Amino acid sequence: MTASPDPRRSLPVITGSRDRTRDPRPGIAGLDAPAVSTWLQERGEPLYRARQIADHVWRRSAGSFDEMRTLPRQLRDALEADFRADTLADTAVTLADRGLTEKALHTLDDGRNIESVLMRYPGRDGARDRSTVCISSQAGCAVGCPFCATGELGFERDLTAAEIVDQVRFWARRLSDEGGHVTNVVFMGMGEPLLNVGPVLSAAAALSDPSRFGLGTRHITISTSGVLPGMERLVALRPQYTLAVSLHAARPALRDVLVPLNRRYPASDVVEVATAYARTTGRRVSYEYVMIDGINDTPDDATELVRLLRGRLAHVNLIPMNAVAHTPWQPTPPARLAAFTETLRASGIPTTVRRNRGVDIGAACGQLAAEQAARPAPAAVARRRERLERESAAALTAS
Ligand code: SAH
Ligand code: SF4
Repeated sequence: MTASPDPRRSLPVITGSRDRTRDPRPGIAGLDAPAVSTWLQERGEPLYRARQIADHVWRRSAGSFDEMRTLPRQLRDALEADFRADTLADTAVTLADRGLTEKALHTLDDGRNIESVLMRYPGRDGARDRSTVCISSQAGCAVGCPFCATGELGFERDLTAAEIVDQVRFWARRLSDEGGHVTNVVFMGMGEPLLNVGPVLSAAAALSDPSRFGLGTRHITISTSGVLPGMERLVALRPQYTLAVSLHAARPALRDVLVPLNRRYPASDVVEVATAYARTTGRRVSYEYVMIDGINDTPDDATELVRLLRGRLAHVNLIPMNAVAHTPWQPTPPARLAAFTETLRASGIPTTVRRNRGVDIGAACGQLAAEQAARPAPAAVARRRERLERESAAALTAS
């Protein structure tokens, strides 16, 4: 006789906060103006309410419907029933650089964690202050760059447009308390934006729409590890977003190790499409290059990088690597960083060195969320280190 099936088997098994059931209500900030108008019309509400709602969502970055006091109670309740005013269920903030850098660890409705960072750049000599917000586009990332804490997490899920935009609204709300506002947004947090291209482009459109968040398109930077189809879509769209390409190596064998997506979309093709983007938009492409001691910072690497980028509308941003647990690598020492910079500049390639912000609070891509995640077993870490050391050594002699 077979046992009758356990009825509990068909229920979702709750194994921890990460498997919490998701809230089915979409985030209000993911809606465009026609969607809000249609929703109002279906309820027989006057259309001027759309302007009031937009004012709360975008100008005041409201985090609850309750605070939308210009709306009648019953409309606030109806909004609450159908939407979430904020898709970030919980946020913990850590400060660094004497308060110039703030890092948020956001918890989503399903218990997953993502990060965003606020970097303040006080204006010098009469220039205006800048407040740059670095946001996540995915929970985790599938690309798996071995120097990156997010890559180590692996892919968890795509974020919705509202979840992306709500990170910016979180900081806008916080800044407005002190009379400031967000001036720049960079998609350089967790995740590969162009592997979640639909929601990322919707979020970027909301952020740059004058009747919504209202940032200039030039003040929005999309950073990619080189997802060619997504980059081609950006070229076809011709928006003026700043494009950043995470290059990290010019030699193919080494880039295969540092940015595994290179096996699918080689750097030479990526640079061609990025150059097409630069031509279409008239905007210089920024190439990001994380400097790793003895791995991608040799004179040969500098020469190859010059060969790849010379004569293009390009700018190189060198970033000393933030040491990440479970990798065998260290940041390039200052003298070698200076020599590398000099080789590029002497070849006419505009080059800057990015100062690492918030290193003391682990404000490198994905570090906080990675710390929250379960730690890999020591044996797995040892195997990974050994494999990376072997692969990077082989890549150094291969090309
Ligand atoms: N996935 C996209 C955007 C997010 S990563 C991309 O790779 O472009 C944003 C930037 O953080 C990338 O340039 C990445 O190389 C950099 N980064 C990741 N880990 C880092 C580390 N340990 N130290 C310094 N920069 C790091
Ligand atoms: Fe993903 Fe970017 Fe990290 Fe690479 S550097 S693993 S693409 S988030």
